Amino acid sequence: MSNILKIVLNRAGIVPRHFSTAVAATNTATTPTTPGSDLSDEPVNIRNPYKQERKLCILCRMKIHPDYKNVRLLSQFQSPYTGRIYGRHITGLCKAKHDLVQREIFKSQNSGFMGTYTKSVDFTHDPRLFDPERPMRPHKY
Ligand SMILES: [Zn+2]
Repeated sequence: MSNILKIVLNRAGIVPRHFSTAVAATNTATTPTTPGSDLSDEPVNIRNPYKQERKLCILCRMKIHPDYKNVRLLSQFQSPYTGRIYGRHITGLCKAKHDLVQREIFKSQNSGFMGTYTKSVDFTHDPRLFDPERPMRPHKY
């Protein structure tokens, strides 16, 4: 900024919008700030607020390993009306756990612990992990 312009700005006492305020601030006498004080404009190291949290499915979060003998757990991923295994858009499971659950359900059905077309009546009043009518992820059907 030229000296003439500074003099003009000081006389007028106003700062036009298109001038940066940082330059104008140097004209006014301010108290010197140290980097440690609250008034300093030094960047502060903080956690990135825009970083997305890693999403874990319910089995990964609770560290549950499905087993073919745990019929109560496996039956929660089965429809009580048709015996169909719910898809990932309904259960919200990750691919690895979904494949594991599916494999364990087939193993359990072949062993005779679980029904193929029905769910055991003992487990009908178990709390539901998800609502099949309102899927967690949208799907194209
Ligand atoms: Zn998972």
